[in-house]
Amino acid sequence: MARAETWQYQLRFDAADETLQMRVCPPDPGQMVALRAYRGDAQRYLIADETDWRLSGRELRAREPGCARYAVAMGRLADRRERGHGYRIGDDLLSWPDQWLWWPRQRSAQIELHTELPPGWQLSTPWPQPDPDQPVYRLGSWPRGWPALVGIGRFQIERLQHGEGRIDVAVMGPLDATQRRKLIRWVDYTTGLLDYSGGFPLPQAQVLVVPINSGSGPVPWGQVYRAGFGAAHFFVNADLSYQTFVDDWTGAHEISHLLHPYLGNAGRWMGEGLATYYQNVLRIRSGDLSEFQGWQKLIQGFERGRKDRAQNQSLTDVSNSMHRNRAYMRVYWSGAAYWLRTDVELRRRSGGSNSLDQVLKAFGECCLPGQRTWTPIEFARELDRLANQDIFVPALREAESAMNFPDLRPLWQDLGLRTNRANQLQGFTDSAPLASIRQAINQPPTPPQE
Ligand SMILES: [Zn+2]
Repeated sequence: MARAETWQYQLRFDAADETLQMRVCPPDPGQMVALRAYRGDAQRYLIADETDWRLSGRELRAREPGCARYAVAMGRLADRRERGHGYRIGDDLLSWPDQWLWWPRQRSAQIELHTELPPGWQLSTPWPQPDPDQPVYRLGSWPRGWPALVGIGRFQIERLQHGEGRIDVAVMGPLDATQRRKLIRWVDYTTGLLDYSGGFPLPQAQVLVVPINSGSGPVPWGQVYRAGFGAAHFFVNADLSYQTFVDDWTGAHEISHLLHPYLGNAGRWMGEGLATYYQNVLRIRSGDLSEFQGWQKLIQGFERGRKDRAQNQSLTDVSNSMHRNRAYMRVYWSGAAYWLRTDVELRRRSGGSNSLDQVLKAFGECCLPGQRTWTPIEFARELDRLANQDIFVPALREAESAMNFPDLRPLWQDLGLRTNRANQLQGFTDSAPLASIRQAINQPPTPPQE
């Protein structure tokens, strides 16, 4: 077996001219450095006369053995103002590292990256940083094509702790102290929502908050990225009140995505469904939604899934063409239906001693951060193995091949969700056969008694 070789990288940022000076040392000093960019555009940002290399397309080859240097115009990258490249957020720089991080050509190579920034400057990355007090990062255990965002600027890194997870929050851009405090408090609330499930599932995560002052609502755009140990990025309207942020579903949705591994295009319905289910369940548990509001949102969502025009085709097909057909409601809510059904079935069969929360917690302990793509069937098999049940795989086969949105009304009735003819929630029936399961879903899982 080939040993993964570790390359030493040194990053120095010069604030005066906004350049990045990179020094790359191969594991063997007699080796010629040969690097490869993941994106073809990366060469545009190289500063030619500080880089004594042979450049051909996406490859850089040093002219002599041993350590080599290259330099990147970070200011130019930020001024591109385009997704996949970079932005300027006030005086801070936001970049997609594909545009400046040239990898060793060897696929198995690992990087130990030492960083040096001017006083008062900080780096925000999702990369594993074993010692939070040392600016040393370890790169290479995940697919190189997975996107990431890196912030460089004069912000603070706020360290939050939830369970075993260290959450490094960077609030970028020109905000006053009150706005910063409000946004950090909201990130603490949002990442803490996972305490109402099985706990924060990653050892370390990056949270980036970027003010954009456009779009509607407090969080017009949020996204989870999987490079490194994982990250959640929130693009916000920072002027809105703390309560407006808490009342918004985006934070709860995005952070719930951290409970599952990257599932690829084929598993989009499964991942979006999990986040959609949990964004409501966790907010009932935190008290931000009443029991009625939470289940009303679930039922209204299932109705949107049922009324989506993308029917008479399998969920797999709809999921694969979701963006083209704008079939978001069928995909997201079919997924949410899958997780509600499997959660209920697991609780029913185990007499309430097991739940989706507990199985996902066990999954997090064995298999997160994922650092590779899981297929839906692999994920379902692992959950069945952890639950010692045969629930997730059969439900997956049924869900993927379903030609239409499932009829959930019998399940609502069993759970004691009383609806009218228009499928609107009217109230609860606590004598329904599975009403105790509905009530248990409203509560955080209780740890087993010693
Ligand atoms: Zn999502």
